[in-house]
Amino acid sequence: MSDIFFNNTYSPLTSSELIEQEKSMMDQKRFDHCVRVSHTARKLAQLNHYDEDKAALAGFIHDYAKQISPTEFREAIKTQGFDQELLNWSPAIWHGVVGTYFIKRDLKITDEEILTAVSRHTTGDTKMTTLDKIVFMADYIEPGRIFTGVDEARQVTYENLDNGVGYQLAHTLEHLINRRSKIYPRTFDSYNVWSIKK
Ligand code: GDP
Ligand code: FE
Ligand code: FE
Repeated sequence: MSDIFFNNTYSPLTSSELIEQEKSMMDQKRFDHCVRVSHTARKLAQLNHYDEDKAALAGFIHDYAKQISPTEFREAIKTQGFDQELLNWSPAIWHGVVGTYFIKRDLKITDEEILTAVSRHTTGDTKMTTLDKIVFMADYIEPGRIFTGVDEARQVTYENLDNGVGYQLAHTLEHLINRRSKIYPRTFDSYNVWSIKK
């Protein structure tokens, strides 16, 4: 068993069933990332006076759908009431937004706050709850991340969660533009709210 723990009151599955189910969906590398995001989310929750177990669980499951096939995602988008415009995007966008469907189906988690945090974890949003911000930032600064600027990102985030959100959005946008990647409108909208100098 891994060193992951949360007091799970959000799923009828036991914590170990939930952990085993998540493990069955991804390789060890992705699983270890999820464990580190869970630990970082717990730490950010403590600093920001938020429910630590809830943050740890949301962090743990945030990438539950990361390794689901594009075919399965397309099928879910077509049949589970998602905006059909999502079909124009890719797994980078789908694994959060559409990932909520697989989390409800397999992990039986119905808590809207947790599902919304998963849904927003890749792009952010114009309005974000404390849990949204915790998961968004824990994913970005977990100890396994090694990109240029990660130490500054950690410093900014531990000092002020909202500034961390702004930092991540500006840097992700810069990175995507440098690669000439397609920008999801919500990523842009989030940047306009969180990263523009007031
Ligand atoms: P991960 O799942 O732990 O790898 O991290 P994320 O869920 O945050 O991000 C997945 C990928 O999506 C990252 O490489 C982001 O840079 C990328 N991403 C975030 N926003 C957008 C966007 O608007 N468009 C595209 N194409 N990619 C994005
Ligand atoms: Fe992700
Ligand atoms: Fe992640």
